[in-house]
Amino acid sequence: MTPEEIKRELIAQNLSDCNENHLKVIYLYRVKDNRKNTSCVIEVTPEVRRRLFENGRIYLRYSTCNYADYVRVLQCYKCMTFGHLARDCKSPAICGHCSGPHEMRDCSGEGQALLCCNCTRFSRGHPNDRAHTASDTSRCPILQDKIKDRIKNVNYG
Ligand SMILES: [Zn+2]
Ligand SMILES: [Zn+2]
Ligand SMILES: [Zn+2]
Repeated sequence: MTPEEIKRELIAQNLSDCNENHLKVIYLYRVKDNRKNTSCVIEVTPEVRRRLFENGRIYLRYSTCNYADYVRVLQCYKCMTFGHLARDCKSPAICGHCSGPHEMRDCSGEGQALLCCNCTRFSRGHPNDRAHTASDTSRCPILQDKIKDRIKNVNYG
């Protein structure tokens, strides 16, 4: 299934009065060694989340899905790398928007060209593909790799 199909069916089968703006498929991942199962990460509004959990089940195509709150990848908003929080950070600040030497929240924002400091740091992708923020789960391949790693470690039964 494609992300668009998942979105459409999720709404049709579970959230009849919602529209496609209420949820976003962030990541689709086929579990290795188990071709029957696909995992996917979706981002929903708190209201949609509450309803999905109230229903107790999520239906998709002809099966029911297991689901759980997805724990976001731990990402530092000061240096934008992973595995620690800003308050424990010992690295210099680097901006997740423009890669400048300041924290993301201090970024002057408008007018600054987007440049992902992690894609730059790890020489990931073509330089033309680095115009996203370092915390953009739908655009940053480095962040997507981190998510993939996490999903691999979760047992979806
Ligand atoms: Zn840090
Ligand atoms: Zn900045
Ligand atoms: Zn990136």
